[in-house]
Amino acid sequence: PSFFEQVQGAPADVIFALTSSYKADTDAQKVNLGVGAYRTEEGKPWVLPVVKKADHIIVEDDNLDHEYLPILGLEPFRKAAVKLILGANSKAITEGRAGAAQCISGTGAVYTGAHFLSKHYPVKGAACYISKPTWANHRAIFEGVGMQVLEYPYWDPATKGLDLKGMLGTMQSAPNGSIFLIHPCAHNPTGVDPTNDQWRQIADTMEAKGHFPFFDCAYQGFASGSLDKDAYSVRYFVERGFEMFIAQSFSKNFGLYSERAGNLTVVARSVEVKNKIESQIAKAQRAVISNPPAYGSRIVSLVLNNETLYGEWEQNLSTMANRIIDMRKVLYDELVKLGTPGTWNHIVDQIGMFSFTGLTAPQVKVLKEKYHVYLTDNGRISMAGLNSKNVKYFAQAVDFVVR
Ligand code: PMP
Repeated sequence: PSFFEQVQGAPADVIFALTSSYKADTDAQKVNLGVGAYRTEEGKPWVLPVVKKADHIIVEDDNLDHEYLPILGLEPFRKAAVKLILGANSKAITEGRAGAAQCISGTGAVYTGAHFLSKHYPVKGAACYISKPTWANHRAIFEGVGMQVLEYPYWDPATKGLDLKGMLGTMQSAPNGSIFLIHPCAHNPTGVDPTNDQWRQIADTMEAKGHFPFFDCAYQGFASGSLDKDAYSVRYFVERGFEMFIAQSFSKNFGLYSERAGNLTVVARSVEVKNKIESQIAKAQRAVISNPPAYGSRIVSLVLNNETLYGEWEQNLSTMANRIIDMRKVLYDELVKLGTPGTWNHIVDQIGMFSFTGLTAPQVKVLKEKYHVYLTDNGRISMAGLNSKNVKYFAQAVDFVVR
């Protein structure tokens, strides 16, 4: 017998299983609105032109080798990532209180931060609060490092917007010094972000309760098309004097999904504390991955540290963000034209890769079985999967299932 006869099989990942079903579907009209990856108007993956350029520069650079990177990663990448999220003039940078660790993309950055907190967070038994709903990996990661995970209200099904009252209520009733996992922009899966005034109220409450903000930033620049606008909440919290972690992913905004380029930015109260945190993260990182991968971080570093390439990147970001924003408008117009029952303005009000449509699990089932449209059971659609060739078809399918 095997050592492992007693092992229970684990369920397949929902998103990746959805992609497999989509691939196996032979219907010509099939539409994949599951996975959060950008698609062009032709429904194809997009290698950003600026990434292609950086690629060529790297390939032709005879001075590059395949030696190990330092444990905390490529220095110019880390510096540039911190500057990107905090802003070049951030007081956390000028005061030397901002640290960084290159990680295995956004997932690795969340893990690295969570792992550090599980070992060193000073409030005994503190729980990590995640939004309801959130990216499924948040719970998996924090539970994986042995922390208790609780939820704060976020989505209000009645308004199809933010449940600010519920969110602030939970922040108020949570024990002092709790950890709050926050999406700074383009909330996944709802596409609902707080307004600037709501961020102020969230910061007021978190400050009064001494909570620790852990931002998970997977869509900077990809949401609105503006890198600064999408970083507003993080910079506002820094301005208010919070210590915090920020997980950064370059999967979406650079289209570098498989290259696993990410960073954990650490904003500490002092240079000394920052250095201690970095040293502990380095020690932990050594035992998990030894050193982060070079390729993706070299591309990101080249672009972020070169004015011309940076400008081209901003244009590429606008291309992606604007196509998605356009698709929201087209989908909304189609639904209104069809007189589809219900209100649909949330489709255009929401931001980023995803829209939380309000479609129910039974409706999603019909979409899949009758229309070959693939989306998660919670009614989330990846806007990037829509284009001018399939958006009408999708609107008609939605119209059918809600009637
Ligand atoms: N956080 C959120 C909220 C996300 O949506 C994603 C991407 N799906 C990530 C983190 C990290 O993705 P990656 O590891 O590919 O950077």
